[in-house]
Amino acid sequence: LQEVLAEIENKGVGTKAVRERYERLLRTFGPELTILREVPLEELQQRAGSLLAEAIRRMRAGEVIREAGYDGAYGVIRLFTDAERAQGNAVGLLFDLPEPTPPRKERPAASEPPLPPPTPVAEPVPPPLHAPPSNGSGGLLVGLDPEQQAAATHIDGPVLVVAGPGTGKTRTLTYRLAYLIKERGVDPAQCLAVTFTRRAADEMRTRLQALLGEAAADITVTTFHGLGLELLQAYGGRLGLPQPLRVATEAEQRAVLEAQGLSPTQAQRLLPRISYRKRTGQPGDERLETTLQAYDRALRESGRVDYDDLIRLSVQLLENYPDVADACRERFRWIAVDEFQDVDANQYRLLWLLAPEADARLFVIGDPDQAIYGFRGGDVRCFLQFTSDYPPTRRVLLRQNYRSTQAILEAAARMMAPASLVPDRELVAVRPGGVPVEVVACPSERSEAIFVAETIEKLIGGTSYYALDSGRADGEERSYTFGDVAVLYRTEAQAAELQEVLAQAGIPYQRRSHRLLTELPEVAALLTYLEENPEGPLTERLERWAAANAPAREALLGVLRALATQCGDNLEAFRNELALRSEADLWDARAEGVSLLTLHAAKGLEFRVVFIVGCEEGLLPLTYDGRIDPDQEAEERRLLFVGMTRAQERLFLTHAQRRRWLGRVRTPEPSRFLADLPARFVRRRTHTVRRSPTGGRQLELF
Ligand code: ATP
Ligand code: MG
Repeated sequence: LQEVLAEIENKGVGTKAVRERYERLLRTFGPELTILREVPLEELQQRAGSLLAEAIRRMRAGEVIREAGYDGAYGVIRLFTDAERAQGNAVGLLFDLPEPTPPRKERPAASEPPLPPPTPVAEPVPPPLHAPPSNGSGGLLVGLDPEQQAAATHIDGPVLVVAGPGTGKTRTLTYRLAYLIKERGVDPAQCLAVTFTRRAADEMRTRLQALLGEAAADITVTTFHGLGLELLQAYGGRLGLPQPLRVATEAEQRAVLEAQGLSPTQAQRLLPRISYRKRTGQPGDERLETTLQAYDRALRESGRVDYDDLIRLSVQLLENYPDVADACRERFRWIAVDEFQDVDANQYRLLWLLAPEADARLFVIGDPDQAIYGFRGGDVRCFLQFTSDYPPTRRVLLRQNYRSTQAILEAAARMMAPASLVPDRELVAVRPGGVPVEVVACPSERSEAIFVAETIEKLIGGTSYYALDSGRADGEERSYTFGDVAVLYRTEAQAAELQEVLAQAGIPYQRRSHRLLTELPEVAALLTYLEENPEGPLTERLERWAAANAPAREALLGVLRALATQCGDNLEAFRNELALRSEADLWDARAEGVSLLTLHAAKGLEFRVVFIVGCEEGLLPLTYDGRIDPDQEAEERRLLFVGMTRAQERLFLTHAQRRRWLGRVRTPEPSRFLADLPARFVRRRTHTVRRSPTGGRQLELF
């Protein structure tokens, strides 16, 4: 509440004005939690002012502006945009905002295409186009270096930015959109930004909001699947798709297969093959094809499509209905795609259908060495394809890495070198030096988890890690918080041990995976509840469910609330939103906790401290029978590269000498990739669990 007041007053949390107002509120309404969660908004409005009532309404609905902690700054949660605050201030804080905030855009009714508003502008770029690019002081682009600026300001045709991790690709993409809109007069409604996860999309929206204010709301920022859903909702009728469209959950997909006589295990195993088949378009064997046909028919009869259909059918739609394709091209004249290295053939085709002209305003960025979705059909050859499909492409290279210290960057690059797809890449760390990367051998998986917990304690706690370990006293070393730390692993199964040890050590954490939200037991229970209890508005039913099912996870509940509000009373829309979001999207910037993530889910993120556990043969590279083909091995190496390059300041690579894995105790060798780390930037050691004669520090600690 104090933070909300501080934002409204535009003063620090500790100031007298904020404190007094806070205390007054407590005297009027009772405890803080009651005010935040229960006091009716009308009452707040009457007795404490509209602005506070609006702030609390937004907070309850999860309509907050998350400014993620990039650029070395901590993330903050805000409730008002700068523009709104300025308006609010202009009329005095105790009065109404001049204009009520526009309600969130309703999901379009099924029969009405949401896409159109084709703006009646003959030329895609209105007048200020030839205004000289601003890069002088005060201009938007001062936040970019000259190479990044060149990429952001090239507007006459396709641009391909191929650059290593941490070189500011995502940042350049965001600034480019802001630049187009603010300084070149492009209509935000004609801009489409495609990212890989909803979380990345949300973060991009936040960054755009910070750069653009209100105008950011009109940009379509989405994932490929989100875009597919939007297209099919608008025009799916043409393909004879049921309306409203419903995306099947994995459980529903399995049920369809089981109804065809497959056992649950067979159904489970077949799903990834069906998915791969749909993503790549490569026909499988005859049996797969027959099963697939029956599966698709049954799915359609039950009024559903599956996740992969969202792209595949959108492609069909644009290929077969030129008027639809034209409307979409008219709508999205400026397209930008992040993480381009991971697009698969269907996604590429969809992109091409949206922008088929050779000189299209298509802006794609990526890093071939971070292609980690080959197993799901991602095809890094799309880079080559791109330059041949769009011959006028301007290629831009970025060389400066702003994220990691030199030690981390060099270690990662040298490890990647043997299988690099960009062998002549130049990558220079803006932050010279740095602490060496630590490779730590641990006797067992348990001691590995203990090593992680102990190291986190040292980094955060009173003892200076530097002073202890390297004899150097460096005050800065102590300034880490739990939110600065991520622990990455190859398989979900590795998380359990870590969670247990972290919990015992009292270290807060958040675990996120790429499992879809509809796969979470809580969400499945909620959907059942909503179906069985159809009375009342969606948001109220959600609250009733939450009250009966406490303790639902805060972060989950927050997301559910926000989605329910956004979807109004449309249960199908709500269900579809859930089907598109993964656990990784439950990122809660407010919760200060260590992040536990799979390597895949860590893509695009950055943390000051990173642990990668389980750097062992069998786990990384992941193999089930010890064999691995060269392509898979290369992808596993890229995965480690992605993981290592998430780190800004400290990087620990651990491996256990004994581990229970796939049902038996093994004694794995260290990962083959560790052998390629350069000695100069790496320190190797063995972790020993310290025990005192009386039973040990471990017992005290845990
Ligand atoms: P990845 O390949 O991992 O997705 P990326 O190339 O997208 O990385 P960003 O996440 O955009 O890199 O940038 C990495 C970090 O460097 C961010 O914290 C970003 O704000 C910072 N950064 C990028 N460019 C600049 C710049 N010109 N000045 C200052 N900081 C920058
Ligand atoms: Mg990025």
